[in-house]
Amino acid sequence: MKQNLLMERRQKVVKEMLMLIGEDPSRDGLKDTPLRVAKMWNEIFGGYHSKNKPIITVFNNGSDGIVYDQMACDTGRFYSNCEHHMLPIIGSYYFGVVYNPQGKILGLSKVARVVDYFATRLQVQERLGHQIVKELWNRLEIPNDIGDRPGPNKKKEPLAMGLVLEAKHLCKSMRGVKKDGMMRTTILKGTFKTDIAARAEFIDWVNSNGR
Ligand code: ZN
Repeated sequence: MKQNLLMERRQKVVKEMLMLIGEDPSRDGLKDTPLRVAKMWNEIFGGYHSKNKPIITVFNNGSDGIVYDQMACDTGRFYSNCEHHMLPIIGSYYFGVVYNPQGKILGLSKVARVVDYFATRLQVQERLGHQIVKELWNRLEIPNDIGDRPGPNKKKEPLAMGLVLEAKHLCKSMRGVKKDGMMRTTILKGTFKTDIAARAEFIDWVNSNGR
């Protein structure tokens, strides 16, 4: 849809919403609200537009003379909205990866961009986690038939990947059961799933970073 038409239709809907909740959309404080909301949706629902999808640059592990074969981690905040009530989800992500020595590595700052891209959709926490992991895993994976350095792990996928999301859902805090609390979801792949020591290293790091 053309941007102008889209903005126009959004404003109409917001104005209608204001009336339906019992407001007077023509009063001073609300006059510019439909336009403000219409513009804001570009930002907080940017994940519906593929032009906003982050480009994740990857490098060959070892290309700078160092082979990374230990856990690399990143953590940060995220903001999303639940698909059941369209109310905010506010939380933190904890991401860890063990690169394949013969595979690819990525700039860890890119994790935040992938998190934000998928968070700016209506979500449930479980699906958000899966979308983030799938995107990062696929980008790091080298299929069998490419790759110039054959090794024992032929597919050359990351050795491990983990993502913990911990978030407060306002639809649980301000309505319904009206209870605060964090919801935690965990996704583990590779040795984080199969190796007790590797999993413990990741989960210990997550817990020591908890906010
Ligand atoms: Zn909800």
